[in-house]
Amino acid sequence: MTALLEVKDLKVAYGKIEAVKGISFEVNEGEIVCLVGTNGAGKTTTLRTLSGLLKPVGGTVTFDGKPLAQVPAHKIVSLGLAHSPEGRHIFPRLTIAENLQLGAFLRTDKEGIEKDVERAYEMFPILGERRKQAAGTLSGGEQQMLAMGRALMSRPKLLMLDEPSMGLSPLMMQKIMATIAELKATGTTILLVEQNAQAALSLADQAHVMEIGKIVLSGSGQELLHNEDVRKAYLGED
Ligand code: ATP
Repeated sequence: MTALLEVKDLKVAYGKIEAVKGISFEVNEGEIVCLVGTNGAGKTTTLRTLSGLLKPVGGTVTFDGKPLAQVPAHKIVSLGLAHSPEGRHIFPRLTIAENLQLGAFLRTDKEGIEKDVERAYEMFPILGERRKQAAGTLSGGEQQMLAMGRALMSRPKLLMLDEPSMGLSPLMMQKIMATIAELKATGTTILLVEQNAQAALSLADQAHVMEIGKIVLSGSGQELLHNEDVRKAYLGED
């Protein structure tokens, strides 16, 4: 089987600072692959590079059989790679409905778009109830839902989620994690970056631990969840 996403020896730098120092991993269709690691490990930098916002200084990225090196960010979305960024980046003055519509900016199938907006409201009923309100009035967790709903509006082959549980209450976090599991069940392939290693590893088919720009450990989500070093470093056990 060829992987949907293949990352080989990827290197990314901010000037002289090497943030990602040659990492390799794959994401197969239908899987949830998770990157975990402490602050500054290079997880966000990796996602931003995959979506074309940063240019790598080395290595290759192949998505759906195509090399991404020379593809500009806006074209990458049209290839089927969507990114729900850290800190959410919704448009606070636009309504919830308008924010969702923006996620479909490359599509012209009006009926399909309407259907997917409805699907987002089914997935997150609170968004449907408040569809005409400015998105800035939503709580942090609700804004996270909107960011995920918006990323899904491009009908991506691969959905990249950066820290979807950041700043959320435990209840809201459970809801987001349950939604990620639901998305997988409906066939969405997901690359998930999370600081909350317990929740993320429980969902992941494959997972990689990053430390200062490198992948230091890889395995199935369950393997890493039961790995002693991971438990000590990321799950708060002595
Ligand atoms: P976090 O969870 O805190 O976002 P992360 O694993 O996503 O951590 P990155 O944000 O990718 O890590 O950061 C990797 C390294 O690159 C860090 O050392 C960080 O300080 C550095 N870095 C990130 N953004 C920039 C930037 N715009 N300019 C310079 N250095 C940066």
